[in-house]
Amino acid sequence: MNLEKELTMKTHDHHHDQTEQLNAAWEKSQQNEIIEYLNAGGKLAGQIEKVPGFTEALNRQLDTLDCSDGRVVSGAKMGLAGEGIVADEKEKEILAAELIRRREELGRKLTITGHEGCGAAALMHPGPDSDKYGYQGAEQLATQTGNEYLAVSHAEFKSPVHNERALLLECTGRFDAANWENFPPQFISSAPAFKLGDAYLKKEMPALTGIALSDHGLGARFTVENPFYIIISANDQTELDHLTSLAEETLKDFGNRVKIDGFIAPAEKKD
Ligand SMILES: [Zn+2]
Repeated sequence: MNLEKELTMKTHDHHHDQTEQLNAAWEKSQQNEIIEYLNAGGKLAGQIEKVPGFTEALNRQLDTLDCSDGRVVSGAKMGLAGEGIVADEKEKEILAAELIRRREELGRKLTITGHEGCGAAALMHPGPDSDKYGYQGAEQLATQTGNEYLAVSHAEFKSPVHNERALLLECTGRFDAANWENFPPQFISSAPAFKLGDAYLKKEMPALTGIALSDHGLGARFTVENPFYIIISANDQTELDHLTSLAEETLKDFGNRVKIDGFIAPAEKKD
C-alpha cells in the first residue's frame, strides 16, 4: 500500500472513531438528569439544589485554572478559554491580580494548565504553532502570578472528544461543576467570577458555543428540542438578569439551538 493511501485510510478511521465517540458521548449525556429536566422545560432556579452532590460541589476551594474546554480537568476547576488567551491587556491585568489574590487566599499555589489541541489558541493564533502560543500564555500567567504551570496532553483528557452539552458562566468562584458527576459535560467560563467584564464575555461566549455547535463538538445533534445550554451560577438576581440578557444578545445568531437558564447560588457554607 502506498503511503498516501495509507494516510487517507488512517484519516478515515480517525473520523469514524471520532463520530462513534461523539455518538456515545451524546447518548450518555442524554441520560444526565439535569439535561433531561431542562429538555422537559424545567428551570434550574430552586431545583438544582435537589440534585445529589450540589452543596458539596458549590462549596469547594477551587485550585486550578484550566481552559474552558470540557476535556481538560486538572483539579477543582476554574475555566477560561485558552486560560485567558482572548483577554486584552486590561483584562489580563485583572486576571493576574485575581490569580495572585486567590493564591494568597488558598495558602498554596494554584495550578494553571495549557493543553494540546486548544481551540481558543487556534482561534487567536491560527496555524500549526497555535498550541505553542497556548502553552506559552499559560506558563507566563503562572510565572507572573507565582503559580504552578502544567502542560496537559491529549492522553490525559477527561473525554477524548468535545462532549460539552452546556456552557457554565460561573460567578461564585466556588462551584466545582467539572468534578460534579451529576452536572452535564460542560465548558466553564469563570470570567464572571474573575470580574473580567462584559466585553470579555462577548468574545469568549460565541467562541465556546461555536465549538460545541460545530463538527468538533456535538454539532448537528443539537436541536430546538435538545439545545446547547448556557447555565449561569449567579450570586444574586441582578447578576442573573444581567448575564441572561448579555448571553441572549451575544448568542442570538446561533438561533434557538441555544437556551439560557441559571440559578442563584445559596450562601457559602463554611466548615
Ligand atoms: Zn483550550
